[in-house]
Amino acid sequence: MAQKRVVLEEGILKSNDLLAQKVREDLRRRRILVTNLLSSPGAGKTALLEALAQNLGPQMAVIVGDVQTRRDAERLERHGIQAVQIVTGGTCHLEARMVLRALEELQGTPRYLFIENVGNLVCPAGFDLGEQQRWVLLSTPEGDDKPLKYPEAFLTSHVLVITKMDLVPHVPFDVDQAEAYARSLNPRLRIFHTSVITGEGLEALLAHLEHTYRSLFPDA
Ligand code: MG
Ligand code: ZN
Repeated sequence: MAQKRVVLEEGILKSNDLLAQKVREDLRRRRILVTNLLSSPGAGKTALLEALAQNLGPQMAVIVGDVQTRRDAERLERHGIQAVQIVTGGTCHLEARMVLRALEELQGTPRYLFIENVGNLVCPAGFDLGEQQRWVLLSTPEGDDKPLKYPEAFLTSHVLVITKMDLVPHVPFDVDQAEAYARSLNPRLRIFHTSVITGEGLEALLAHLEHTYRSLFPDA
C-alpha cells in the first residue's frame, strides 16, 4: 500500500514538472519575469506585493492562490494592477496546472508576474510552478529558527525576504542568526530586509527585480 502511494505521488510531481516547463517556456517567450512567493500565513506576502504595486503599477500582475477567498486579489486590485485569483478549494499549495489555467485569464503582457502561493511553508516548496525565481518570506514575529524547521522552502529559493523589520525591537528575532541558518542551507540565497511600514528595503528589492529582468531578457 505504502509503495503504491509513493508511486502515485511521483506521478503527480512528474506531470506537474511537465506543466511547469510549459508555463516557463510560454512566459519566457512573452518576456514576463515570474516570481513565486512562499511563506507562512501572515508573513506579509500580500502587503509586500501591494508595496511593489505602488512602484511598478500596471507593469506588474499577480496570480493569487488562496484556499477559500478572493480577499487578497481584491486588496491588490485596489492598487490598479491585475490580480487573477485561484481558489484552491482546500488544497494547501498551488500546482502548475492551476497556474496554466490562471494564465488564460491574464490580459496583456506585464513585465513582472508574481504568484502568491498559499500561505504554507511545507508543500508549496515541492511544486515547481514554472517560475524563474522563487522568493521565500520570513517575518520577524515568526522567529529566527524557521529556516531549520522548513528547510525545503529555503533550499529551493533564490531570495529570502525578511519582512516586518520594523518589529525587530519588539520581538525576539535575531537577524544575523536567521541569516546564518538560511545560508547554512543555501549559501547562494540573496537576502533582503524589508518593512512596508517604514519602506526599508523596497528600493533594493525593486532594483533586484529590474536586474533579474535584464539578465533574463537582455534584448528586451
Ligand atoms: Mg496573502
Ligand atoms: Zn499542500
